[in-house]
Amino acid sequence: MAKMGLFINYDYCTGCQSCAVACQQEHDFPAGKCGITVTEYVYPAEKKPVAVDFLPFPNELCDLCIRRHQMGEDPACVKHCQAACMMFGPLEQLVKEMEKTPRSALFSPR
Ligand code: SF4
Ligand code: SF4
Repeated sequence: MAKMGLFINYDYCTGCQSCAVACQQEHDFPAGKCGITVTEYVYPAEKKPVAVDFLPFPNELCDLCIRRHQMGEDPACVKHCQAACMMFGPLEQLVKEMEKTPRSALFSPR
């Protein structure tokens, strides 16, 4: 089977945290735990207008929603991302997306 992963175009991430909430509910993680962390990066104050980036990235708790995948469904975070900036698929396909998307990241657990 092809190795699967998550592609994230963080240029469009709004920091809404829907991915984190969806992940927590899907896996029934306890409060404060989930498989994706959305980090806020505020650019130095001298940059005007003040710019903020939100960087969502899966962590060691992410299993790529294998249970949903086996049922032919997208991962919970992908399904609930408000900005539709996440994609699940074979790494080979996601690498091509990344090549044409400057501010993006790719995740694939071991
Ligand atoms: S793929 Fe599933 S386990 Fe991984 S961050 Fe998304 S919702 Fe969580
Ligand atoms: S749901 Fe999408 S837009 Fe919202 S924080 Fe997660 S990656 Fe960003």
